[in-house]
Amino acid sequence: MTSDSFDYRATIDEMMPGVIADRRHLHQHPELAFQEFETAAFIAERLDALGLEDIKTGVGKTGVTGLIRGTGTSGSGKVLMLRADMDALPILEENEVDYVSQNPGVMHACGHDSHVSMLLGTTKVLMDRRGDFDGTVKILFQPAEEGGGGATAMRADGALEHPTVDAAMGLHIWQDVPCGDVWVRPGTAMVGVTGFTITVYGTGGHGARPAKCIDPIVVGSSIVSAALTLVSRERDPITPEVVSFGSFKAGNAFNVIPDTAVLLGTIRSVTKAQGEAVKQRLQALAEGVASSMGARVEFEFGGAAPPLINDPEIAEIVRAATTEAFGPERVSEGNLMSVSEDFGEFLDPVPGCYFFVGSRNEDKGFVYGHHHPKFDIDEEAMATGIEAMARSAIRYLQN
Ligand SMILES: [Zn+2]
Ligand SMILES: [Zn+2]
Repeated sequence: MTSDSFDYRATIDEMMPGVIADRRHLHQHPELAFQEFETAAFIAERLDALGLEDIKTGVGKTGVTGLIRGTGTSGSGKVLMLRADMDALPILEENEVDYVSQNPGVMHACGHDSHVSMLLGTTKVLMDRRGDFDGTVKILFQPAEEGGGGATAMRADGALEHPTVDAAMGLHIWQDVPCGDVWVRPGTAMVGVTGFTITVYGTGGHGARPAKCIDPIVVGSSIVSAALTLVSRERDPITPEVVSFGSFKAGNAFNVIPDTAVLLGTIRSVTKAQGEAVKQRLQALAEGVASSMGARVEFEFGGAAPPLINDPEIAEIVRAATTEAFGPERVSEGNLMSVSEDFGEFLDPVPGCYFFVGSRNEDKGFVYGHHHPKFDIDEEAMATGIEAMARSAIRYLQN
């Protein structure tokens, strides 16, 4: 199959007022990780109204899934999963719009509100076209993408089974990309992440008598200095890696050497093996520094997501579908991103493609980046996202 003559643009243009209303409703009612109860209820009601089968709520705590069964005769009868994340962030919104967050301190500052409304829009297009394919589309709304482990929770609840998912697609609205453009990257598209906590155990005492103490602040500082040489001096500069510290907490008085110091940080890597190697070296280095200074460390790793690796064949389906829709000048591979996304958890066992839809519009003032208190998107991007996803799904299912 090479071309899809369905008039997506007219169909989606007609839907857009509803899609925008949905997004603004969700934007006004943001919910944090694993607390997306109202969001999940809103979604389940919509899926029911659209006529989806086997709608499940409470998957991975607050996730929602539903099935679209193709009734056509063309295709291979495969199961394709389409995913949107639905959690917001603990940020106080600074936008002055009439759809500003009604939940102070919580904000859809990453665009997951638009992901939900786009996937509802895509679901409608696919329901209307289910006579054109004979496979199944599993529509999946995931909680807790922002470091909460929502994808892992949904997998543990069997989201990739009943029926078994053959391939997966997802998208993120992206503020570094002009509205109307699409980035589709075969292979690694986003790096993997591992968070770490290092607790340094020293011996506290009077600030005037350091010789009687083992100062965990000094040990911790030495660990930070040593750890920052790990990437710059030990690792191959051809493949990017990052080690960063985000928190260093110790003591609470000016004249007391504390017993412990706690350091938090993050490791980013392009491959799982690299991430594992950096983890091991960081641990060895911290243990060596601590023991040479008479202290002891304990490590805890968490908040991990694997690198997001797109299957080349499915990425090609998305590239071909979006190129057909928007023209080659609007579709590119884009950049490898040093941010992470737990859709990689789904792409570990299942081949798939995660791509980016531009939402930046300087003329309209939509320039603030993700997680900024003034983040807002050009809602036109959602028409691009729906068309990109619907065309890619149909192309996959008809092949
Ligand atoms: Zn985010
Ligand atoms: Zn996000």
